[in-house]
Amino acid sequence: MTCPRCPTVGTALIFLSVVHISAGLKCVCQLCANHTCETGAEGACWNSVMLIDGKEEAVKSCLSPSEMRGQVFCYGSRNVSKRSCCFTDFCNNETLHLHTERPVRGPGWSRLELAAVTLVPTSLVCVGVLLWACTQCGQHCVYRKALAKTTEDPLDNQSLMSLDKSLKDLIFDMSTSGSGSGLPLLVQRTIARTIVLQEIIGKGRFGEVWRGKWRGEDVAVKIFSSRDERSWFREAEIYQTIMLRHENILGFIAADNKDNGSWTQLWLVSEYHEHGSMFDYLNRYTVSVDGMVVLAVSVASGLAHLHMEIIGTQGKPAIAHRDLKSKNILVKRNGTAVIADLGLAVKHDSLTNTIDIPANHRVGTKRYMAPEILDDTINTGNFESFKRADIYSLGLVFWEVARRCTVSGICEDYQLPYYDMVPSDPSVEDMRKVVCDQKLRPNIPNQWQSCEALRVMGKIMRECWYANAAARLTALRIKKTVSQSFAKDIKE
Ligand code: ADP
Ligand code: MG
Repeated sequence: MTCPRCPTVGTALIFLSVVHISAGLKCVCQLCANHTCETGAEGACWNSVMLIDGKEEAVKSCLSPSEMRGQVFCYGSRNVSKRSCCFTDFCNNETLHLHTERPVRGPGWSRLELAAVTLVPTSLVCVGVLLWACTQCGQHCVYRKALAKTTEDPLDNQSLMSLDKSLKDLIFDMSTSGSGSGLPLLVQRTIARTIVLQEIIGKGRFGEVWRGKWRGEDVAVKIFSSRDERSWFREAEIYQTIMLRHENILGFIAADNKDNGSWTQLWLVSEYHEHGSMFDYLNRYTVSVDGMVVLAVSVASGLAHLHMEIIGTQGKPAIAHRDLKSKNILVKRNGTAVIADLGLAVKHDSLTNTIDIPANHRVGTKRYMAPEILDDTINTGNFESFKRADIYSLGLVFWEVARRCTVSGICEDYQLPYYDMVPSDPSVEDMRKVVCDQKLRPNIPNQWQSCEALRVMGKIMRECWYANAAARLTALRIKKTVSQSFAKDIKE
């Protein structure tokens, strides 16, 4: 058996390194906490440089195994961008340059001479081992696959960033390229740095949200201060979870850290939705029964996708949101909704039954906290507990929507849940007294019984609000039940 491609000595060395890697690597990463990242098994350290606004911008980071498989990060070398992958700890420490100047000749051997002396004997051994390994590794040969990709899949930074590409095209390219997690870092940075900010559209926990323009399209830019680097990093990390993309989860585009000389601005770029949050939307508009059902089904679908674990190499972990509320849901132009603000979300590792960050208890918005969070009886050792707490909050969001549903010309004014039971900025203690001690829940008006969809919504809310978290409905069940109520409504 012979190797189908004849690698050069240099590639043979890379191959040997790949073969020896079974655990992950540690790499330099400017965009990460502690400037270090870890790859999964069979990942690589990534080093790149690109010309942006006439300046060389370097990006160093980790490449996950899926990025190695799905996209051609490692093998580009043109005048405007250069990329390389390497396979030993912190091997991407060196800074790449686009136009390498001729080094001034000093005393001793030149790099070339040194390389010749050390590499030639090593290479002969390597080529021998390589030929042997090529016959052994068959279809599982990581390097062969990556190399094959370079010819099959022309998705590199150049083609991604060609001038006629819209955001939709870029995201489509990305989702069909096999990575399933996010745009290459270099593309993210290039997009972020060519956005022109237009106006502030929101303020939240960590700073401002702006509407910006990228190649004539609107985008949303959430700007964190350097003080909140951890939150920025965390939210970007969650949005780039493999297979997270869904029509009812805010479409993430890019993360970037931009040093303006005196401080670092941390950007998170996402799709822009002109209606803003569901809170703003419900304050401004009432909804028809159809409108209510569409909003409710889409939020439940987004949450069901977030909560669902997908098993397999291209799988996704179960994720709990932990801050679900109408201000963290956005309304699209077509009247459906997307779940946003994933900064407090936690991922479940089902193999070890652990979550990916310490569950600092009682995060989220007090008004929307489930009873077991308010009285601190939540079992954080069981990931289901976090999902069940989300379901309680989802019930409150449904209540906000249902109040604004117009039936026979009648609907209620917009109110926050528990508006009539707690002060405007309630403490945990205020909420605990009402929700846990007095066991009160938002009022479900009698007139909801006269419309099938509203009756079903009322029933679902009650089943989201059980004090016994294990008795609550799942997001998937809720999605199905609301959709069915809609079908019945149409028949009536
Ligand atoms: P924080 O983490 O600071 O709470 P959010 O992500 O919740 O930030 O955003 C705060 C507000 O900004 C939202 O309630 C909404 O009004 C607005 N907003 C955020 N993202 C978008 C977007 N993609 N499109 C339109 N408005 C947005
Ligand atoms: Mg928010």
